[in-house]
Amino acid sequence: MTVSNSTNSPASASDATKPSNFLRQIIESDLASGKHSQIVTRFPPEPNGYLHIGHAKSICLNFGLARDYKGICNLRFDDTNPEKEEKEYVDSIIDSVKWLGFSWGKDAGKSGHESALFASNYFDFMYKAAEHLIERGLAYVDEQSAEDMRANRGDFNTPGKPSPYRALSAEHHLNRFREMRDGKHADGAMVLRAKIDLASPNINLRDPAIYRIRRATHHNTGDTWCIYPMYTYAHPIEDALEGITHSICTLEFEDQRPFYDWLMDRLLEGGLIKQQPRQYEFARLNLTYVITSKRKLAQLVNEKKVSGWDDPRMPTIVGLRRRGYTPESLQLFAERIGVSKSDSWIDYSTLEGCLRETLDPTAPRAMAVLEPLKLVLTNWEEAFGSAAHLEDCSAPVHPHLPDLGKRNFKLGKEVWIEQTDYEEIPSKGFFRLFPGNKVRLKYGYVIEVEGADYAEGTDEAAIKSGAARAVSIRAKVLKDTKSGTPGSDAIKVKGVITWVGAADAVTAEIRLYDRLFKTEHPDAGGKDFLEALNEDSLKTIQAYVEPSLANAKPDEKFQFERHGYFVADRKDHAAGEAVFNKITGLKDTWAK
Ligand code: ATP
Ligand code: MG
Repeated sequence: MTVSNSTNSPASASDATKPSNFLRQIIESDLASGKHSQIVTRFPPEPNGYLHIGHAKSICLNFGLARDYKGICNLRFDDTNPEKEEKEYVDSIIDSVKWLGFSWGKDAGKSGHESALFASNYFDFMYKAAEHLIERGLAYVDEQSAEDMRANRGDFNTPGKPSPYRALSAEHHLNRFREMRDGKHADGAMVLRAKIDLASPNINLRDPAIYRIRRATHHNTGDTWCIYPMYTYAHPIEDALEGITHSICTLEFEDQRPFYDWLMDRLLEGGLIKQQPRQYEFARLNLTYVITSKRKLAQLVNEKKVSGWDDPRMPTIVGLRRRGYTPESLQLFAERIGVSKSDSWIDYSTLEGCLRETLDPTAPRAMAVLEPLKLVLTNWEEAFGSAAHLEDCSAPVHPHLPDLGKRNFKLGKEVWIEQTDYEEIPSKGFFRLFPGNKVRLKYGYVIEVEGADYAEGTDEAAIKSGAARAVSIRAKVLKDTKSGTPGSDAIKVKGVITWVGAADAVTAEIRLYDRLFKTEHPDAGGKDFLEALNEDSLKTIQAYVEPSLANAKPDEKFQFERHGYFVADRKDHAAGEAVFNKITGLKDTWAK
């Protein structure tokens, strides 16, 4: 689903279907006052890892606002740090944003750029702007050692001390800066600093470094530069050059806003930029049982705690996708949690709730037996004339979507049922298979249980107590009780069980996932998050599924009746080699 350009509301009107929030109010007021005729937002990932669920919130927010107010949202790679970026990450980020349902530039039907933007394309401008600041006495090259610089910055109670280089002439600094650019000085020998206020209570204004020397090959600009702009300097410039109106970032950048505004004011005065972007902060997403630090996620991958960035237990977008999450569920989640100005924790069950809400109305149903136990219908030949007879059965693909039609499967003398559906001595409230009881094989016949067979030599006492595990179950099929026939109501039963016919069962590998971390806040309080790792978060079993699943395509999602939602694995599932991942159960297992 592409959601861009899908609203018809006028640009200035609020979308009544969406709950308002402080960002929507700001945008609506800016559009109403004519401050902006169109909003421009951006999503600016650093391509140093795969995107995670926190980024999904930011993507849905930035692209969603642009969509709802008929604006533009740029996908911009913040690739100002030469060492860390890799093409693999760029490709994966583009893919993830598209998968979430968003597009940008010409793809979104907007004028302008066709594809993703790169901050490194603005290096020339950033350099020019730095020279401009130096010429105006607003920046200087500091040759103090890193230790001296740190010591002279002061702290909350002590104002900073000026560097001996601070008072030198603009001409001197301009020469030095050009020498830095020309590779005349070693890495770390000096930095360019903005000249602002050494006594500011905001440490970020105490002459922050804006350029450093770093000999590293950049993925885009190669060896053109040996000096690179600092993030805090580069980011506002990127916003200004792209005409961003609302630069939305997470709360940790609040203290950087005064520098952001200082820089934009200076470049506006100097005529280098035409329009001033504004920064707004919102609370990052914190999700229980989940880690949203790229560094820590990379550690899980590198230390092989998971099979890769797209391991279905990972909170990465590629991981969630492989697990069977839908783009709609992540969009719904982002909308439901909203945006606020204060940090909080979101319960994982909220995310899963959104997932079930989007899967339930669409996912085709199927029957599967995850822990198979054989059931033999002893009177089959007598009832149907041949032990090999197969009875056609059918069920709706989806109970509420009759247009999807029916799925067909066969009932024969031998049937797979769940081990847990048989109890030798029924516990209280157990209505399924036990000797003498009648139950319905869903979409099939009512059967009457005779008893169980146990392996030779099984202890009588263990059988009597229910501790022994049966090898197979015997039952009689009751003719004329087939579902959908007039006789189906003749016998009332309390239990209805799912099953798969032994004759047409498809074998499948099923991967059952549990939470990756055992505790709600795995990386809180400086703990080693690896200690919270759940070592039993993946269990692989062999199961039987109904024949309609033989044609499942990778990525296709189903509800296995009584079991939950499953997806055909996008990498490992193939015809003849079915592999399904459990997406989630039918009920919430996360809530406290
Ligand atoms: P790192 O974890 O390496 O510090 P990051 O998560 O900040 O990186 P970026 O690539 O810089 O990664 O993030 C791109 C955008 O996503 C930023 O605008 C950032 O504010 C936003 N973002 C990152 N994490 C979250 C989160 N948990 N919730 C909401 N937005 C987030
Ligand atoms: Mg970041």
